[in-house]
Amino acid sequence: MKPKIAFFDFAGCEGDQLQVANLEEKLLDILSHVEVVSFREVMTGHSDDYDIAFVEGSITRPEDEARIKDIRSKAKYLVALGACATIGGVNCIKNFMSPDVYKERVYGTSGRWYSTYAARPLKKVVKVDAELHGCPIDRSEFARVVKELLLGRQPWIPDYPVCVECKKAGNICRYDLGRICLGTITRAGCGACCVTEGAHCWGCRGVAPKANLDAAREAMNKNGFDHKTVRDLLRFFLGDTYAPL
Ligand code: SF4
Ligand code: SF4
Ligand code: SF4
Repeated sequence: MKPKIAFFDFAGCEGDQLQVANLEEKLLDILSHVEVVSFREVMTGHSDDYDIAFVEGSITRPEDEARIKDIRSKAKYLVALGACATIGGVNCIKNFMSPDVYKERVYGTSGRWYSTYAARPLKKVVKVDAELHGCPIDRSEFARVVKELLLGRQPWIPDYPVCVECKKAGNICRYDLGRICLGTITRAGCGACCVTEGAHCWGCRGVAPKANLDAAREAMNKNGFDHKTVRDLLRFFLGDTYAPL
């Protein structure tokens, strides 16, 4: 009997599921070891009988809580997929506004008809067994984590900061170029891809264990970045970590 896996989504753009669908030949290899019983983005069938649930997106409405609890009750293992699910991600930007303001911006005058509350990661509502970080997730990391789960192991996820991978990649530090970067406090695993491509780290993989947010904020201020620039960067992905509910 192959383990049964299912994919679910809450508030998010479905980019993480797209990463899985785009695994191509690696996906065929995975499919030879598991049975996919639910994956709305690529198939029409659905079954409530599954062993591992991969869940994308944030909890943003009171009614989401009953649904994620139901998924949790059916799954032996629940994996949060992507920044929205693991840390709240970009959905948490609205947590810094009043509900009246963000409802009006999104729904206009119909805002009062929509139930919505402060966005939160899955672990604020249910037990999460493993987290796949990033916006979107890294395809190779997904394939490795599935393999580890099938072998009955707790998936290994890096606990050191992006700076380690950035140095290995031979990048010039953004701070030495007079720019800002969150690689000092962000969990590695992406290979510092944004810096390598000429940008900076926005923190999409969440805060690394033992990272010191206050020290990072102070260092950014000392490098000449004003309070608003630092605040806006921290809020972009790390809103729930930076100012939890
Ligand atoms: S983490 Fe990024 S890619 Fe995944 S659902 Fe959220 S916004 Fe989309
Ligand atoms: S550019 Fe960013 S990730 Fe790279 S070393 Fe500097 S702070 Fe760290
Ligand atoms: S460099 Fe930072 S923002 Fe870019 S993928 Fe890695 S963790 Fe995310």
